[in-house]
Amino acid sequence: MISITGLHKSFGSATVLRGIDLEISQGEVVSVLGSSGSGKSTLIRCINGLEKIDGGRVTVDGFDVSKPRELADARKRSGTVFQLFNLYPHMTAVQNIALAPVEVLNVPRKDAEAEARRLLQQVGLSERADAYPAQLSGGQRQRVGICRALAMKPSYLLLDEVTSALDPEMTAEVLSILANIAKQGTTMVFVTHEIEFARSISTRIAFLDKGQMIADLPTEDFFSDKGMAMPRVAQFLSKMR
Ligand code: ATP
Ligand code: MG
Repeated sequence: MISITGLHKSFGSATVLRGIDLEISQGEVVSVLGSSGSGKSTLIRCINGLEKIDGGRVTVDGFDVSKPRELADARKRSGTVFQLFNLYPHMTAVQNIALAPVEVLNVPRKDAEAEARRLLQQVGLSERADAYPAQLSGGQRQRVGICRALAMKPSYLLLDEVTSALDPEMTAEVLSILANIAKQGTTMVFVTHEIEFARSISTRIAFLDKGQMIADLPTEDFFSDKGMAMPRVAQFLSKMR
């Protein structure tokens, strides 16, 4: 379980997260929606320990991300994919994917590369396994990024606007792969502007507004009268459509 209680985060005098409570259990797919600047990326970065938190508590399977001795264990359990692909340019797709399993988990290179090829096959990229990032399209690079996160066998996959740098065709390609991964039971926390996709894939929607979680509802409730009764949610959805 990812458990967030009373999470506060500021940058200087600007308070960005104001007491967030959120629990994510195994098997859930939770989409985090909210306007630009509402704190979605900051929330994801607090879950994987990339930001120091100022108040409250974030634990991943019981490991507290604010405790230096527990951070590595917490991080091992959550794989993150960002908007920009951040692949190493001098390494092939397979080498990028195998890197962390070899260096962090001490998996023998041969096994890690075999697993990388299996993952690439799953996302329809077997033929590009030995290509360098510069030789791949944006959508292909993002698929490699997803494989790289999955290679660490995370319990939770955190995805921050993984399609926003892609054109519509590549977006569709990546979303269909994510839908497949969700079907296999991987727990996901999904930050996205793709509302219809969030609706089709998520079990729950968490809605952030100016650093506060003002709605946390089962997906069908969020998109029903219940969600629409919340002025900020109604306003957000009408703008997005
Ligand atoms: P978007 O939808 O545009 O990606 P977001 O919901 O992900 O927005 P965040 O990136 O979490 O928003 O940013 C929330 C607020 O925190 C913004 O006002 C942003 O300017 C500020 N912020 C984020 N990172 C930093 C930082 N490292 N230093 C200072 N301010 C920051
Ligand atoms: Mg963001």
